[in-house]
Amino acid sequence: MGDIETYIRLRNSGIALVEHIPGTPDELRALGASASDAAELAALHQVYFGPTRYTGKQRKARQAALAQKHSLGTLTLIETYTAKVKKTLDAWNLRIKLAATPAHRIRHVATARLKELQAKRTAKPGVRITYRAEGPNTLSITDDATTIANMRGVLESTNTDLLQAANDVFFKEGTGSKPAVRTQVIVTLNELDQIINGEGDDIKLNLTNGGRMTGAEFLTHKFAEIGYATLVHPLDGPINTWRLSRGANLNQRLTLHAEFHTCSRPGCNKPADYCHVHHLVPWQAGGYTNIKNLTFLCAYHNGINDDDPLRPTGRGYMYRLNTGVSFIPPWGAPITAMPEYQEALARLNTEQATAPAQGAATTPGKASQSQAVPPQPPPDSS
Ligand SMILES: [Zn+2]
Repeated sequence: MGDIETYIRLRNSGIALVEHIPGTPDELRALGASASDAAELAALHQVYFGPTRYTGKQRKARQAALAQKHSLGTLTLIETYTAKVKKTLDAWNLRIKLAATPAHRIRHVATARLKELQAKRTAKPGVRITYRAEGPNTLSITDDATTIANMRGVLESTNTDLLQAANDVFFKEGTGSKPAVRTQVIVTLNELDQIINGEGDDIKLNLTNGGRMTGAEFLTHKFAEIGYATLVHPLDGPINTWRLSRGANLNQRLTLHAEFHTCSRPGCNKPADYCHVHHLVPWQAGGYTNIKNLTFLCAYHNGINDDDPLRPTGRGYMYRLNTGVSFIPPWGAPITAMPEYQEALARLNTEQATAPAQGAATTPGKASQSQAVPPQPPPDSS
């Protein structure tokens, strides 16, 4: 057998080769290995056969790598990913997972897992400054949710351009006082009972500007400083079922806050105060402006919500199911196939057919027919 074949066969033997490597780089250098080869081989031996507190995990990783017949190159590839993990235990779990993964899938699996591990990290309160050689530089503040919400309130009350506002707060005399933040604290009746029973410290209440306070803090907090306090029964609530106007009125907006305190798209934490009021069955298709048909969406998620057959986005949409307001993914039924949507559209067409002064019946899906122009929406509603 030629040298090349021998070399390839040995590299392919992976764990079996690693087992017979002498322990230290120096010993390998003495055998004639280059510095980088010596470092690579000794490190692999250390990982799979060296002393460790995690002998059980080490054995598992070895067995998995043997079963997958990982080559020396693949074992080294796995180490490039485990090196990115700070905690030894996490690194071992990742190593076992990758050792048990077919070689061609390792990059994909590792990238996904590293992303998860990073997402788990929680931000520590503090002020961080990033300096760049040519600027611009960055000053970022991390603190509890209420403080950040209040800071944002101060900036917004100073200037709509938040960077200018920050400059004014820092450098202009007489600005930067705490404004009367007009937000809302949500208390359900059962929570109120608990607060009154003295269990207030155990309850976390959400503020619609993204802040949080305990039930005890709520009792000592002046209502005037919050703006509104709404007591909402968990089951009952004011629900009007007629089609009033496109814009949600203040009461509807306030009631809506009781159900949602952020953008309703899963994973989005944009506080409700900075969201649009959104019609689940679109107003243009005959959707009502009532609590059941409204939710909060941030500007971005409102923009990509796939509810207009004339402008498909392919990004899924929000809809009220029996379980509450839910995200319908792009591979789910289109909104035009939903029974409530079809009912609303049929009702709208009937209304418009019996009211000729307002123009012909329209179908949102057909631009050529839309002669009746829907009323202009108020800026915060869609
Ligand atoms: Zn959002």
